[in-house]
Amino acid sequence: QSDKYQRFETILKWADEIRSLKIRANADVPDQARIARGFGAEGIGLCRTEHMFFAEDRIPIMQKMILARSSQDRERYLEQLLPLQKQDFLGLYREMKGYPVTIRLLDPPLHEFLPKREELMVEIAKHELTGGNPAVLEEKRKLLARVEELHEFNPMLGLRGCRLGITMPEITRMQVRAIIEAACEIAKEGKKIVPEIMIPLVGMITEMKAQKDLVREVAQETMKRHGVKLNYLVGTMIELPRAAVTAGQIAQEAEFFSFGTNDLTQTTFGFSRDDAAKFVGIYKDQKILDADPFETIDREGVGEMMRLAIGAGRKTRADLKLGICGEHGGDPRSIEFCHQLGLDYVSCSPYRVAIARLAAAHSALNGRSAGKTQAKERKSGAPARAKTPASRAKKA
Ligand code: PEP
Ligand code: MG
Repeated sequence: QSDKYQRFETILKWADEIRSLKIRANADVPDQARIARGFGAEGIGLCRTEHMFFAEDRIPIMQKMILARSSQDRERYLEQLLPLQKQDFLGLYREMKGYPVTIRLLDPPLHEFLPKREELMVEIAKHELTGGNPAVLEEKRKLLARVEELHEFNPMLGLRGCRLGITMPEITRMQVRAIIEAACEIAKEGKKIVPEIMIPLVGMITEMKAQKDLVREVAQETMKRHGVKLNYLVGTMIELPRAAVTAGQIAQEAEFFSFGTNDLTQTTFGFSRDDAAKFVGIYKDQKILDADPFETIDREGVGEMMRLAIGAGRKTRADLKLGICGEHGGDPRSIEFCHQLGLDYVSCSPYRVAIARLAAAHSALNGRSAGKTQAKERKSGAPARAKTPASRAKKA
């Protein structure tokens, strides 16, 4: 190891002694988890399970599953996916060696898995012109009709997140089985494992309760079948303004919150996360925005949503675990804000883990010096300032 690298390691070790925020990584496959551990990640804060289905051998099964009309048909395809999904989780658990692993249930905008409507139309037109096999033509027409049925004008606000798990509960069932079966296997080897199951895009306590009850039911059944008793957590993403505003209720059903600041920024501003780059630069030039809100947490709007959710959530459940897994979890200015809000961890891309460790230490040091200044002021009789995390965060 080079001298430079060793010095860098020493600095990171000092940072670890100072910081109070834990650093996790967003990782979907064992390779990413390995890289994250190499950089010092203390867990996986977000495994986006939809990414696991984009593999060439899985997309066709996934597509058929989504296109199926009955829950029995969907179950048939999900049965094929179950062993693959179980292997995915086993790989992650093994790599993370007892560190927490947060697995988010499926959250794809549906259209990502559907055949393209326009392509199907072209294929049908070609078939009609050339007078191809009528049976094939009929199949294609049926497929197009189903794709039309599932077509959404605004998929990012459509049938995704927990809405998918609620309307097609067999998906949640398969995923929970895979999560718990893989964890049982680890537990049977005598190793520590506490999976954290995360429900995406919750906006209402009723959604959270419906999915949580299903998760608990399937987890119980699965553990019984394997003769293993596991500890596991069920929590939610906070990524919609309605979830933030009703977080006090949602915390009755959720053991942890993870802020999905990508969607929370999108829905709070009403800026499309996929298109905002077209105008954010101009907004910055014209001083309408001072930073890209998709990079750095907007403290007045999105940050305020987070503050509300934390206050209300902790009031309902004092031991509510709090993290962030949006892109902001790897941004130093946002990390400082998360520290001030009192989150337990930030989760970021594996390659940002080292920066996040440093930023977390920086935030702790800044917090300490702010505390000392206030103590000095109090001693000298200067007027005391409000010291709630909220006012500190606003000031910073
Ligand atoms: C988020 O919305 O911040 C999040 C982490 O989820 P995704 O980016 O997968 O929507
Ligand atoms: Mg999201």
